[in-house]
Parts: sequence; structure tokens; C-alpha cells
Amino acid sequence: MGCPHTCSFCDQRSISGSQRAPLPEQVREICSMAARDIKDKSETEIAFFGGSFTAIERGYMLSLLEAAKPFVGEGGFKGIRISTRPDCIDEEILSVLKGYGVTAVELGAQSMSDEVLALNERGHSSEDTRKASALIKSFGFELGLQMMTGLYGSTAELDNFTADEIIKLSPKTVRIYPTAVLEGTRLGELFKSGEYKPMEAEESAKLCAGLLKKFLDNGIKVIRLGLHASELVEGKLIAGTYHPAFRELCEGLIFRKEIEKALCGRSGKFLLQVPVGAQSKAAGHKKSNIEYFAAKGAHIKIKTLPELCGYNIKLSEEVD
Ligand code: SF4
Repeated sequence: MGCPHTCSFCDQRSISGSQRAPLPEQVREICSMAARDIKDKSETEIAFFGGSFTAIERGYMLSLLEAAKPFVGEGGFKGIRISTRPDCIDEEILSVLKGYGVTAVELGAQSMSDEVLALNERGHSSEDTRKASALIKSFGFELGLQMMTGLYGSTAELDNFTADEIIKLSPKTVRIYPTAVLEGTRLGELFKSGEYKPMEAEESAKLCAGLLKKFLDNGIKVIRLGLHASELVEGKLIAGTYHPAFRELCEGLIFRKEIEKALCGRSGKFLLQVPVGAQSKAAGHKKSNIEYFAAKGAHIKIKTLPELCGYNIKLSEEVD
């Protein structure tokens, strides 16, 4: 939608606006359909995502909000979520959003290293993210922050630094996007010229598993880890991290670490108890954790234990 920026990872120049911009009538139609189909709407939000919502043409932005507003509130949806850039937030726009029933604002922080932001041509600073976050919270909106890992010029240390800085801003939610290199982007050119070496898949999953745990330990919900599975991304992907079940991969690694700690190098037969619903995550992607420990002489059988939650486990030796 006429974004003047040229972020290194973004392929907006190769996407025609008309392909994706919804009309207010379509917003009404989608909201009506959802209102009909979703029984308990009190926990569901209407979201305007995939762009810098507050930076699009004002009349168009208001027409979309006007279309969504009647579906929010008493008996309707919980609220409206939008995503935008940290430098596209000020008091005036937040007052407008408030008046239209917006309840949550997410910022694409991407990195809290100014060097990484500059190298990836984001056009804003980490200070913009700090200031916008404080302003959003002072207006009573729910704050969400999005970060990327493995950007050009970044390292695992810098990505951990970004996560630590984000935690200091105490958002309610976080999204973590490992960098996917798409055809038609600046990153794609840098990758082809050999100037940018994307993070290896294994390192990326390990890093993101650590970040996921770090945010959760600090009481911050991670509402997305990895890009949504989409034909658009899959068709244009030339390098970087993209896996349709990326979160499961990371969660498997968290469980692997917990099991490793509990095993303390022991071998034999073990019963591993995990929270309800976590059996396949604990077993790892395609049972990789089971195989990993079996190769070390530890044979694990997994069962659930309702008292457990999160990534907590209980390991006991199995008696034949
Ligand atoms: S990521 Fe957002 S701000 Fe950056 S170029 Fe793409 S649309 Fe513009």
C-alpha cells in the first residue's frame, strides 16, 4: 500500500497492492461470516495485519475500521488488533484508534540493535520502538512486539539482546519470525552475492527455542513462532529459515533440553511424563528426541500427567 520503505527482507515491491488490499465491504462480509460461525466471540479479535496499518492512506484506514467497528463490543468480538511500524505511532493516531474500538497494537520491532536495523534498511531506531511501546501502553492498548532472528548483520547474541530489550518493554504478546530470504528482496541479492549468510536451520531452531523459553519464563505470550505456512512464501523462498511446523521443532528442542537435564547422562529404560497435549512435542519432530536419546542408550516411553504444565516433565526409571 505505497510503503516508502525498502526493508531488506520485504518483497512488497513484487506484490501488487490491488492483489491484497481489502475493500470495506469485504471487511463487513468477512466479519459477518465470522460472527455467524464463531459461537464464543468474547475471546476473538478482528485483526488488520500484514502491513503498517497506521501508515496507509487515512481515509482508507478509517473506512476499514468503520466497517469492523459494529462487530466489536457487547455480544460481538473482543476487539480489533492492528500491526504497524514503531515510527508510525503518535498520540494523535492512538486517539483515533481508540475511538474505533482498536484494543491491541503490535509493532514490528524486528531488532533492538540499531546497527542491524540500519543494515536492513528499516528506517527506524530501537528508540522509536521504546517510545512507541510506552505510548501504546499509556493509552491502555495491549502491546504486542514482533522480532526477527537471523537478519543481515545479526548474530545469536544480538537476537538474544533484542529479546532482552523487548522483555524490558513488557509487552503482552510477542511474535518471533526467523528470517526467510525471498526472491525479489535486497536480502535475496545479498544472499546471492555471498554477502549475507543466513543462519543454518539447526542454529535457528536452537536460538528460537531459547527465545521462546525466555519470553514464556518472563510471562510473555509468544503468539507466533515462524512464518505462516503459505504458498506465497514457499514459492519465493530461496534461503533462510522456513518450516511449516517451526514452533513444534522449537518446542521439541526445549523438551530435549529438559529431558537431558533429568537424565544426567543415565542410560536404561525410562518413563517420561509430560503435560497433557505435549506428548508429540516431547517426542520431537518425527520422534527425533526418542531416537536422539535411544542412540545414547536411554529408551524413553512417554505418558501424560495432568498435574504438569508448560515444559515441565517427570522422569523415572522403568522397572521391568
Ligand atoms: S516490511 Fe513493512 S515497512 Fe518494510 S518495506 Fe515491507 S511493508 Fe514497508
